[in-house]
Amino acid sequence: MEIEKQQSKCNIHPQFNNNLLLFEENNIHTKICSICAKQLTKNFSKVIEHDEFLHADQSHIFSSFPPLEDENIYNTIQNLQIKKDTSIEEIFVEKIQNYFITLKKEINQKIDILYNQVKQKIIQMADLSQNQGNIFLDIYNEISSKFDIQRLYNQYQEDSEQRLKEIIQEKYQNIRNNTEKLQKTILEYQKNFNKINLKTPTEIQKKIIDLIDQINFFEIPQKEPIDKLEFEKSKYLGSQNLQIKRLQNRQIQITQSIEGYGISYANFIIDPNQKYIFRVQFYTYSQANSFLMVGIIQEQDKDNKNLYNGICYKERGDSMKIDKVVKGNNVFEGKKVNIDKEIEVRIHLAKKMIKVANYPNYENVAELQNKQLILENTQYRLAVELYYTVHKIIITHFSKVDEFDEKM
Ligand SMILES: [Zn+2]
Repeated sequence: MEIEKQQSKCNIHPQFNNNLLLFEENNIHTKICSICAKQLTKNFSKVIEHDEFLHADQSHIFSSFPPLEDENIYNTIQNLQIKKDTSIEEIFVEKIQNYFITLKKEINQKIDILYNQVKQKIIQMADLSQNQGNIFLDIYNEISSKFDIQRLYNQYQEDSEQRLKEIIQEKYQNIRNNTEKLQKTILEYQKNFNKINLKTPTEIQKKIIDLIDQINFFEIPQKEPIDKLEFEKSKYLGSQNLQIKRLQNRQIQITQSIEGYGISYANFIIDPNQKYIFRVQFYTYSQANSFLMVGIIQEQDKDNKNLYNGICYKERGDSMKIDKVVKGNNVFEGKKVNIDKEIEVRIHLAKKMIKVANYPNYENVAELQNKQLILENTQYRLAVELYYTVHKIIITHFSKVDEFDEKM
């Protein structure tokens, strides 16, 4: 055969073929017999049969050749090679399928075991197996003497009337006893009935379902809250002329393209129980009639009213609503030109709280003068308003917090 011809006999061990390659770094022998190989090296992973080379096809991976610094690579490639005809999609689908099959199986097993345990326990619990309806009937029939009375009527005799009167009188004599007897049975029945409580198991059931909802195989990058925040143009007056733009740094810039009332509101309804922090930058440039606002607007008003008369902080002095000074001076510093300031707005509607402070110093803090203006069971959105084309409002920050810090 072809292969036989290529194989030479070892000079030292003529009964053995030189059918091996030894490829240690400083000990390379291209034609060597197995006895020689054993004498020349202890490291047999560096030995390959010529046959393996001769039969190696397109997809063959040697277990230690070519020499690599990481021995695991041969195995890794080998394993990946096995899956080469499967797409990543198929591999994922299979993995996820296996996950859910196992999850279902394990949950089912757990539930079956628990169910049987509980069932056994119920069976073992004394006085639960009796038919409750019969207990009531037995006692009732006994204390009512229903059948005695029935018999007396059926076999009416001279003394029957007397007997009936006695029975009924006896009922009055035993009125307390009979009442207590039935009450006691009812109480026992209710006590037994309350031995099974579905409240906690139902809560656990809800938690399990919630947990299952949280199963997620994909690492979706967590978005910053401000990335999800959008501002929409109100349909009121000149609001459609607003220009709302997301800046490179994710902040939201709102300007007016034609002078006029421009109101825009956030893309979500404020949850009264959440605590929100917004930061807003106001730029007036040379326009002294500042007329920039941030505040909350009722859902029903968002497209047909301005923010000016609502609950807002105004970068303009008259008819301020959020001007009850909590710390320092009023956040509004009087009509000025070239205003360039950032304020922080904190909102917690359940507490009827809306506060503003100059940021980042928090030197001046003001809150809503009349908290009753915030109505209960009313939906609000954060809103901003501006008028002049030179003005600019930028929403620089948005977050929800568990607790507000002490800064304001
Ligand atoms: Zn030899």
